[in-house]
Amino acid sequence: MVEAWPPPAAQEQEPCAHHWLIENPNGETSIGVCKYCGASREFRNYAAPGQYQHRTRKDATQTQ
Ligand SMILES: [Zn+2]
Repeated sequence: MVEAWPPPAAQEQEPCAHHWLIENPNGETSIGVCKYCGASREFRNYAAPGQYQHRTRKDATQTQ
């Protein structure tokens, strides 16, 4: 997923609404790049809270 979009010279010129283009998931996180300003940030792939919390048990007793 590559879109050629020339980023502005100055990154902090005006607030950008950010249209994130997110790469295919690769592990826990994906890198998203803004379509408009070229900013990049990290997105977590396990974004669903609660789905991940059932593993907070102590592993003292491993009852499978
Ligand atoms: Zn942006």
